[in-house]
Amino acid sequence: MHIGIDLGTTYSCCAYVDDDGTPRIIPTAEGETTTPSVVWFDGCAAEVGRRANARKLVSPALHVYEFIKRDIGKPIEVPNGCDDPAAPYEIGGFRYGAAGISAIVLRKLKRDAVRWLKRQKKIEAEIDERQFQLDAVITVPAYFGEKERQETKLAGCAAGLNVIGIINEPTAAALSYGLMNHPNARIMVFDLGGGTFDVTILEMTENDAIVLGSRGHGALGGRDWDQLIEEYIYEAVHARTGRSIPESAGFEVQQRALEAKHSLSDAHEATVFINVDGIDVDLRLMRERPADAGSELEMEGAGATQDFYFEERALDLLTQCRVLCQSVLAGVTIPQSWGGSRPMTWADLDEIVLAGGSCRMPMVAKMLEKISGRTVRRHIEGFDYDTAVAMGAALYGRHRSRVQDVVAHSIGVKVEQNDRQFIEPLLVKDAPLPASAEKRFRARPNAVLWIYEGESTLADECVLRGRLELENQEGNVAIAMRLDDSGILTVTADCPPNGKQLVELRNELFAFGTRCTSLRERVQSIALNS
Ligand code: ADP
Ligand code: MG
Repeated sequence: MHIGIDLGTTYSCCAYVDDDGTPRIIPTAEGETTTPSVVWFDGCAAEVGRRANARKLVSPALHVYEFIKRDIGKPIEVPNGCDDPAAPYEIGGFRYGAAGISAIVLRKLKRDAVRWLKRQKKIEAEIDERQFQLDAVITVPAYFGEKERQETKLAGCAAGLNVIGIINEPTAAALSYGLMNHPNARIMVFDLGGGTFDVTILEMTENDAIVLGSRGHGALGGRDWDQLIEEYIYEAVHARTGRSIPESAGFEVQQRALEAKHSLSDAHEATVFINVDGIDVDLRLMRERPADAGSELEMEGAGATQDFYFEERALDLLTQCRVLCQSVLAGVTIPQSWGGSRPMTWADLDEIVLAGGSCRMPMVAKMLEKISGRTVRRHIEGFDYDTAVAMGAALYGRHRSRVQDVVAHSIGVKVEQNDRQFIEPLLVKDAPLPASAEKRFRARPNAVLWIYEGESTLADECVLRGRLELENQEGNVAIAMRLDDSGILTVTADCPPNGKQLVELRNELFAFGTRCTSLRERVQSIALNS
């Protein structure tokens, strides 16, 4: 028995595969299909999910942790009192990074799943849920680098899960899609969630899902659309009343903006009511500028505030999505068997599949239809924006060998030639996973190996992923790298006189076992309200 977990920026979701091979959603303790990825902590106990969201509205303070996935990949825990901006979350006197907070969310997901699976008699009733190592596949955005994947795995392990795989979210969505729809299709999965955006092109066959290319953005999602509305609320209230909304009302404004955004997916206009210092203000938001803009647009106090047309304000955000879609298409060379070697075009796709809650905004499909010149289905039978990723993750646990993903970012080592330093890639972006490569270099004695991730040859434009002191004698060194199916890296160095050594990188990233044990103790010691 294993579960699939969509660990989302905004919402998380769990699924399992039934005996007949069908993926099913595991409901939360609150009886819902998804859990908000929000943690609230009052100094004694943590609330996770719906309850944390409810708490933050009544007692916000500093104890709310949300959208933490955007920070994943930063260091985890530092001793109390250490002012590390990368570990900004404090719970019970300890500071956590995003993986620590994610582990608390995962703990709640695991607890709900184990309880439900026990009730369904899918696992033995006597099993103690805290001790039980539940196998899990966890999803990550396709653009996540190797460190972010490691951190996600770490969060899973600390939550008491046995992480059997990490799968890219759009790939998982494609698996759900492939199951419900006719196979043998080339598809683009456009996954716009709450905090992240991913676009992936896959070839689906009866037996396999093969990723051809992927692009993404770690800070582009529904939250940015919320902020457009929030900014307008602040501006307009100030213009109307001459007063500023107090900081303490921040979460309320956030909530009102979110509700208005959701309304604008169904209706052409929405009203935000807000009370500032006893003054009632109502703001009218429009989805788009009406063709016959005229008296329709007269608002009370008009002139003082700009009109709000959601789709116009969101143009920059949509452009960012569009550019990434075009970039992923241009990066895929269609094989000879499809009729010649050339970059892919929209016409080569059989379907554009929407995933992620933000695709409910009509402007998303509209933009895609405009650039692709094809119809985008808003609703695909049996495919749900919110649960497709978790179901795909559960399926992946069964069919790992049938899925082939790609290297998210090139990985290489820093080398020097003619006094010039540059990054020599070993594993190249978009190469099929698992990927491995070996290169030989001439090394000075006791050379230091610097491992970088990124698409540039300049170290400054890449991310440093690790450092290894080789303890070698002068001579040839063979560096081998392997990224497994989950996109997790192993590096070996074969150098005189020691022969082959598994790289033990001297940085926190690779001390996985120790870090997992200490984080797990912390996370398990937090009281979890239910
Ligand atoms: P993530 O994977 O990042 O957790 P989800 O795929 O669950 O995100 O999508 C969450 C985002 O979808 C949020 O920003 C939420 O506001 C947005 N969303 C959900 N429903 C709607 C809707 N009806 N209209 C517009 N946006 C929506
Ligand atoms: Mg998602």
